[in-house]
Amino acid sequence: MSYANEYKCPCCGAKLEFNSTAQRMKCPYCDTEFDVETVQDYNEQLNESMGDDMSWENEAGGEWEEGETSNMRVYSCKSCGGQIIAEETTGASFCPYCNNPVIMAGTFSGDLRPDLIIPFKLNKDAAKAAYEKYVSGKSLLPKVFKDQNHIDEIKGLYVPVWLFGAEADASMCFRAEKKKSWTDANYRYVETSYYQAVRKGKIAFEHVPVDGSQKMPDDLMESIEPFDFTQAVDFKTAYLSGYLADKYDVSSAESVERANTRIKKSTEAAFAATVRGYDSVHCESSAVKLKGGKAQYALYPVWILNTTWNNNKYTFAMNGQTGKLVGNLPADVGKAAGMFLGITGGIGVLGSILWFLLHILTGG
Ligand SMILES: [Zn+2]
Ligand SMILES: [Zn+2]
Repeated sequence: MSYANEYKCPCCGAKLEFNSTAQRMKCPYCDTEFDVETVQDYNEQLNESMGDDMSWENEAGGEWEEGETSNMRVYSCKSCGGQIIAEETTGASFCPYCNNPVIMAGTFSGDLRPDLIIPFKLNKDAAKAAYEKYVSGKSLLPKVFKDQNHIDEIKGLYVPVWLFGAEADASMCFRAEKKKSWTDANYRYVETSYYQAVRKGKIAFEHVPVDGSQKMPDDLMESIEPFDFTQAVDFKTAYLSGYLADKYDVSSAESVERANTRIKKSTEAAFAATVRGYDSVHCESSAVKLKGGKAQYALYPVWILNTTWNNNKYTFAMNGQTGKLVGNLPADVGKAAGMFLGITGGIGVLGSILWFLLHILTGG
């Protein structure tokens, strides 16, 4: 029968065949038999949960007002290609991304006006203190990382972020298993029961951020999340004063895919968490349909310090609102070798003390 090919086995996912003798559907792989209705129900649910519709109205960002940007300059870095914006009075001399000199490329024009901004809450002194604490006690660290002139180079940077918000109307099918095992004199038995768990519901997502700068690594930006969005305010150029702002180079349209991935993953995790009491749960099909999807353009505050050492780039970044920080530091190989010897010596001493104690115990 031709339609048989269209049905999936609820146990193993293989294509079922219709067995005319038994008048039932049978799986050629796991040998399980099913009623036709069971299989139909199961597959209907599965098909209902297929096909995402995750489209967005792209209206993020606005137009600059007349004269609003006349004080803003664009600085560009010959070394990494980064372009940053600063008010003329603030100026910029070094690139926040690679710490090489930047040159003024001209007045600022084009680009969209941010809708929102989360202003810096922690000042430069707080950022420097956090950095110094972060590197302190690391005796193996090359000197350049602790250099005061270098630490002074820490920069307050507004990172462009696209914020996505929508209501997700989702339907998902999970295949769940329960296993029971027992033994008799000769055999060990395992009985596996398969369940189809269907979940349907709505989840509202607000301000799912996607970093709009190529120079700012996405994972780095995500690791200093969360930002407290309740403190976001309508954008005004006055907030930029004294800080640098990155020019976005990933458009909101280009950021949609990452936003969708984040939304889909979170929805699946939230739904899966409600399928309880099984030995294993596996998401078989899921459909996420977005309603009222809207994107906004915002600037997020980040303190950043990049250090190049031995041709490698090391980044320290701190959430300018909450103080959450991430960073990577090199290990100085020369110094590490010496340190290692010291540790080995220490273990040697400890070993002999233990031996001595054992000797006393056994001897006594
Ligand atoms: Zn099967
Ligand atoms: Zn650069």
